[in-house]
Amino acid sequence: MHESEDLPQSVNQSAKDRNFTKRHRAARYGKLFVCMSAVVQYSFFLYLNRKEELSMKKIVMLTCLKSANSCCTGAACFQAFQDRTGAFAQYGDEELQAAAFMHCNGCGIMPEDNEGLQEKVDRIVEIHPDAVHLGVCTTDKEGNRCPVIEKIYSVFQENGIPVINGTHNSARLSDIGAPIPKK
Ligand code: SF4
Ligand code: SF4
Repeated sequence: MHESEDLPQSVNQSAKDRNFTKRHRAARYGKLFVCMSAVVQYSFFLYLNRKEELSMKKIVMLTCLKSANSCCTGAACFQAFQDRTGAFAQYGDEELQAAAFMHCNGCGIMPEDNEGLQEKVDRIVEIHPDAVHLGVCTTDKEGNRCPVIEKIYSVFQENGIPVINGTHNSARLSDIGAPIPKK
């Protein structure tokens, strides 16, 4: 005869209840463990993404509105960026992000006199890119830049953002890829 058959019914019942409670608790812990490991995995995924984002250099290109309004699509700038040629060759295999492609607002329009342009400049300062590259279209045939572009890039320099000569290759830029000194 089985031992439990000798025990009163109430003792058998409480043993069953204890077993049920144990199984129930184990199932609850199991679910909790699955949830916790999902949270840990997701947090780790976010951490890796953030780390990658932080190590990625942000690049801004500043170009001439006259050129954009005539025949330029910006394709040569983006091609050089993708291929790491011209002024972008210096980054080699580094991860880069094209954070903005910005034009001036036209000849004679200074940031301080134009709300829209000032807003653009402020946004770039807020992004705080690792570098702002000046397109070849921001220079004349002699390699000089207009006062508007000089004013815009000087604001970036004042905010600790390096400004670099050029984007894609051009015979017009003799020192392509070189940092532009502060005035
Ligand atoms: S202000 Fe300078 S960069 Fe802007 S459109 Fe005129 S020449 Fe081009
Ligand atoms: S640098 Fe060249 S491709 Fe880039 S915006 Fe100026 S003209 Fe266009």
